[in-house]
Amino acid sequence: KKRSASSGNANNVKVVVRCRPMSNKEVSNDHKSIVFVNESSGTIDVRAPENSNDDTNKAYTFDYVFGPDSKQVDVYNLVARPIVDAVLEGYNGTIFAYGQTGTGKTFTMEGKKDNNQNYGIIPNSFAHVFLEISKANKDVQYLVSVSYLEIYNEEVRDLLGKDRDKSLEIKERPNVGVYADGLSAHGCHSATDMETLMRSGSFNRHTGQTLMNERSSRSHAIFSITIECSDTGPDGKKRIRAGKLHMVDLAGSERQSKSGAEGNTLKEATKINLSLSTLGNVISALVDGKSTHVPYRNSKLTRLLQDSLGGNSKTAMIANIGPADYNYDETLNTLRYANRAK
Ligand code: ADP
Ligand code: MG
Repeated sequence: KKRSASSGNANNVKVVVRCRPMSNKEVSNDHKSIVFVNESSGTIDVRAPENSNDDTNKAYTFDYVFGPDSKQVDVYNLVARPIVDAVLEGYNGTIFAYGQTGTGKTFTMEGKKDNNQNYGIIPNSFAHVFLEISKANKDVQYLVSVSYLEIYNEEVRDLLGKDRDKSLEIKERPNVGVYADGLSAHGCHSATDMETLMRSGSFNRHTGQTLMNERSSRSHAIFSITIECSDTGPDGKKRIRAGKLHMVDLAGSERQSKSGAEGNTLKEATKINLSLSTLGNVISALVDGKSTHVPYRNSKLTRLLQDSLGGNSKTAMIANIGPADYNYDETLNTLRYANRAK
């Protein structure tokens, strides 16, 4: 499955924006909503806040936009479902949640477990995968497994492994591609199996460190499902195809304040900015299609996802934003980043 660097295809990359509702705190602090979402035209308008010296309104158009009242199931059906269907057919796919901390990346990917209408893309994909498998011809055999890793400070760790402090090396082998050496894979027979693994990996992502919230907003988490399918072809020979789905909750995209950040904090911030900007460069090179160089090797994130970005792979970038005036600058940063990835 070799492909040239310039084999990107804009049709395989979708960029969408989701704006969360105002939080209770934002409402009680009398913040104004400055983001206007027009779902039917796919447009987002951002009005400059009253105290800003920038008085121009900005408008951006995307493949889909989701307003504050959007439903998890609609995001799933429009953005994730086509990718999961392609993975069931043997393609690779990647879904990213990008955005400032607190804008709904984890809500979009994982959701809340209080009620199933709040399930995010990851658990909704479990039900979808096993429903399709149950409908398949009985002669077709499926092997489903999941892995869950975290990239923190350019170090890769297994969220489902025995030793979660071990830093995994990235390796490459012909026929296998790029992989995290020693990453555990867990066979699954049901959506419930997968959900249990997702919960325990996410729990591990949020604990074990002193500054828990700090860490989860500064790390990238990649939940991966591998679906192998085998059957017998018309010639009587066994055929195997495999698809991989990566669902990525990215580190917060906010500008790390330069004042006060020093030592480790500054080093972390530099690495987050590097991997997010490399991801932006990779996606824009793929969408452009004419670039002769796709800079996968510049960060661990893009290196690990190399085989699932570009070529025949399907990619969706969900840019998450908040509606409130005080986030104006970060909201514009996120929309510009997403706009470049189109
Ligand atoms: P992030 O992962 O980007 O830091 P979270 O997913 O933790 O952000 O979301 C921050 C808060 O906003 C959470 O309490 C979450 O439940 C809430 N939230 C985010 N998006 C939505 C949404 N679309 N609808 C309702 N609540 C949301
Ligand atoms: Mg989060």
